[in-house]
Amino acid sequence: MEMDQLVSLCKRRGFLFQSSEIYGGLNGFWDYGPLGVELKRNVKEAWWKDMVTSHDDLDAPAGAPSSFEMTGLDCTIIMHPQVWKCSGHYDLFHDHMIDCRQTNKRYRYDQVRGRWVEAKGQRIFVATMVETQDEAEDLQRRALKHFKLRAKDAEQLSWDGDVTSLTTVEDTSVVLGPDATELGSLTEPREFNLMFKTIVGAMGTEEDAAFLRPETAQGIFVNFKNVLDSTRVKIPFGIAQVGKSFRNEITPRNFTFRSREFEQMEIEFFCHPEQSPAWYKYWRDRRFQWYVDLGLAGERLQLRDHDPDELSHYSTGTADIEYQFPFLPAGEFGELEGVAHRGDFDLRSHMEGKLDPNTCPLTVEVDEHGQPRHRGSGRDLSYRDDESGEKYVPHVIEPSAGADRATLAFLCEAYTEDQAPDEKGKLQTRTVMKLHPRLAPIKAAVFPLVKKDGMPEIARDLYRALKQHFPTFYDEKGAVGRRYRRQDEAGTPYCITIDGDTLSDKTVTIRDRDTLEQWRVKLDDVEGELSGRLK
Ligand code: ATP
Repeated sequence: MEMDQLVSLCKRRGFLFQSSEIYGGLNGFWDYGPLGVELKRNVKEAWWKDMVTSHDDLDAPAGAPSSFEMTGLDCTIIMHPQVWKCSGHYDLFHDHMIDCRQTNKRYRYDQVRGRWVEAKGQRIFVATMVETQDEAEDLQRRALKHFKLRAKDAEQLSWDGDVTSLTTVEDTSVVLGPDATELGSLTEPREFNLMFKTIVGAMGTEEDAAFLRPETAQGIFVNFKNVLDSTRVKIPFGIAQVGKSFRNEITPRNFTFRSREFEQMEIEFFCHPEQSPAWYKYWRDRRFQWYVDLGLAGERLQLRDHDPDELSHYSTGTADIEYQFPFLPAGEFGELEGVAHRGDFDLRSHMEGKLDPNTCPLTVEVDEHGQPRHRGSGRDLSYRDDESGEKYVPHVIEPSAGADRATLAFLCEAYTEDQAPDEKGKLQTRTVMKLHPRLAPIKAAVFPLVKKDGMPEIARDLYRALKQHFPTFYDEKGAVGRRYRRQDEAGTPYCITIDGDTLSDKTVTIRDRDTLEQWRVKLDDVEGELSGRLK
């Protein structure tokens, strides 16, 4: 599948629209249309149900070291600015950007790639932002242009090494920027904090500055004690939250994959330090399986353990669940979810402020007395085990997923073109979104075969009855084959047709979206039949 095909289907059928489109759109912001809103809700609801509400507190799930409890939270987007100082986001949550003096374009430093090439005695680094199969073509075209060579003289270009990151290049004066025609137009990289700033209150001074949360996790950490005190949860237990997060990404792109406003589904799982490696392994495997169960099985999904040098200073293990999105170069994967062992870093930061410079030099800004500049809350966020009397700061395992990235992966995986017979039995190419029934925005569509003989009345009654149980669509317009195809594009698993036989024997046809199999059931049994299949 080409990404363009999916993007066009998403717009045409109302899955996704560019935000503020009538004003030209706003880069990095997306709206979910009538089908998209249902799909994304289903993704979030499946997550919440599987992780929180249907979780069995009494029995240990397969692979878990023991039984455990799960609970939820819904925190605000704007929190006390000190939260972000202690979490490290204020000082450290930044990317590096570079600007092009010729084109005034801005790039994220680590996203620019390129390749060394030599011709006519000059060696330059040609940079590109093209991420697809067209990357090689872009590099070649621009190198030829720079050296004033014709396509037929391409053998005069002597390429050196593979495509590599711009971050490996020390001398920017020999770099040809991604959209530039002049050499050396890129600036040196500069730090850029990704948090959106806003002002709370009417005074509008710098002291009233606050931030839109760049992750939902911190709301959970700062409420850890509240949850302990207001419920009877005991360690081990998890707190889940779903909600919007905001990051002022330098180069938002690849449809919703990198947006500036997006939704996260995060769990902070609190456990005894000695048991944390076993819990880390449990959550890593369980979260991977969740995507498999909802239809991302196969070689496009992978679980990748971080190399030790990729790990944050406080983490003893992190794994990414990754999907091979069609907009990435062949063989490359994009992150859907990170599962991290975070030790006691977060709770300690909110208790004591940033940690000892000797143990985590990255996070510490010290004042003139050598003390951490950002002090914690001073509250005791440790846990006391009633039975053993032991008091400790729990370790945390964090499965952190993106609702928009998961939704995008499900859309990519679902997009299928196959051959199906039309009314006259002739094979035609059809586009079908093979979404998992739990995720499909509409579960069933009801059609009267023709708009007469009482068929619409029966169909409407069935439609109203089914709607009480799951999202159902009614359509009586146009040829029935076209109605089927519209539902195929929406990903509706079942279509029910009321025809001549319904009038005599009170049976209807059910058609399966994926197999195209059709079978008859009694009108009264439709709801039961579909409910069973949709589970
Ligand atoms: P990336 O390296 O791709 O920027 P990250 O490692 O910074 O991602 P985390 O901070 O671990 O991401 O956030 C957890 C999850 O939130 C990610 O796995 C992803 O699903 C989602 N996410 C993060 N940034 C974005 C974004 N800009 N747009 C959409 N989803 C995002």
